[in-house]
Amino acid sequence: MLKVQGLYKSYGKLSVLKGINLEVEAGEVIVILGPSGSGKSTLLKCINGLEPIDNGTIEVDGIRVDGKNRKQNLFQIRQRVGMVFQHFNLFPHLSVLDNIAICLKVVKKENAKEAEFFARKLLKRVGLEEKSESFPEKLSGGQKQRVAIARAMAMKPKILMLDEPTSALDPEMISEVLEVMRDLAKEGITMVCITHEMGFAKEIADKMIFIDNGVIIEENSTEEFFQNPKEERTRLFLSKVLNK
Ligand code: ADP
Ligand code: MG
Repeated sequence: MLKVQGLYKSYGKLSVLKGINLEVEAGEVIVILGPSGSGKSTLLKCINGLEPIDNGTIEVDGIRVDGKNRKQNLFQIRQRVGMVFQHFNLFPHLSVLDNIAICLKVVKKENAKEAEFFARKLLKRVGLEEKSESFPEKLSGGQKQRVAIARAMAMKPKILMLDEPTSALDPEMISEVLEVMRDLAKEGITMVCITHEMGFAKEIADKMIFIDNGVIIEENSTEEFFQNPKEERTRLFLSKVLNK
């Protein structure tokens, strides 16, 4: 479903991703871990084309982007990749329902009735039917993030990527968002998630990836990763985050 090969990305003189290779099978759930500034967000942004890449190839569901054919295939890649950010990025001037429906109208060219029908269905799935007419400012952080997930799912993405979806939330709201993500994972969506929620990662991830300083240090099955990591750097990092 996703294949990243030899991905390099710099910002000016700062080399952020240094030869990333990554494969994700359909239906797999991957959790990416790593210290702040290691390039995790940049990797997700490169995959869905929010940032241009310097070298390498990215293939999503058979659609390939490299330095040359970037323009022609980027739109197709974006249609296949749903993105959820730490700070929700909802449209503040639109109701919850319209936040979701607008994507269907503009990108999928659905008529208003169809778009709203599907948007309501998605809101029900994340437990927020009754908030459809509310505006984002009236929602809690956990509710906003659930809307953001519903919006990403509206595009029927082949891959859902989430960048620290719970790290801006108050502790009591984390579980409601994890619950929605857990349901999606069980339904078999291919998911790439950056999170430091270790219990959650252990429970849902098929594979763990540890990235440091723009390089994948370790890629391992979830069980091995936590019980018997291959790399000393993984061990060290885990001892810090698990003992917090
Ligand atoms: P992480 O998500 O792992 O915390 P990021 O991918 O956000 O790390 O950032 C990796 C490095 O790239 C950091 O040093 C960060 O300062 C730098 N960086 C990220 N985005 C930009 C940008 N738009 N311009 C310049 N530097 C950036
Ligand atoms: Mg980040």
